[in-house]
Amino acid sequence: MKKIVFATNNAHKLQEVRYALKGIYEIISLKEIGFTDDIPEPYETLEENALTKSKTIAEKFMINCFADDTGLEVDALNGAPGVYSARYAGKNCSFQDNVNKLLYEMQAHKNRKAKFRTVISLIINKKEYQFEGEVKGHIATDKTGTEGFGYDPVFIPNGYPISFAEMDLEEKNKISHRGLAVKKLVEFLKNTSLKEKDA
Ligand code: IMP
Repeated sequence: MKKIVFATNNAHKLQEVRYALKGIYEIISLKEIGFTDDIPEPYETLEENALTKSKTIAEKFMINCFADDTGLEVDALNGAPGVYSARYAGKNCSFQDNVNKLLYEMQAHKNRKAKFRTVISLIINKKEYQFEGEVKGHIATDKTGTEGFGYDPVFIPNGYPISFAEMDLEEKNKISHRGLAVKKLVEFLKNTSLKEKDA
């Protein structure tokens, strides 16, 4: 089976993407290639942060790889936490801290519309390609469910009565921001390998 590096050390993301690419690509983590540092995400767009992660690894290890950056954009908070989703409650905060801060900030708001957006940056033979996925929904007033990670316990996707944290991997992957972006990545990788075979 073909192998590709996913430039992340987030175990939850690895699990989701490995599930989505099962039987198609073997996904190698950063830990498996011996990289355990945090890659800084200094930019104000998901596109730039995803690129900086994929480029750092592609250049250091001279390999093809992909990275993702994700943000939760809440209408009533003018798009926050957005690109700052990982450190919404401050440096070194936990998923719990972020969710608690979000619920606190949302207390006064009736409009609870939000969306998750993921950008995947893929580097193949030094060329970059990006794939985007988004899912619309709303922020619940309380946490429910124990699956998933991050803001999953308070995100209810449109058309569903339950949060992402109440869904199993397969169900979440079908409709999630990352699932949709990965679907586009898979289509691209399939076509790319076909072209390589033809060449
Ligand atoms: P990252 O910078 O792409 O790692 O993502 C930023 C933050 O968004 C993470 O720390 C999580 O809190 C959150 N996040 C990313 N993806 C998801 C998801 O699928 N569900 C819930 N929260 C997520």
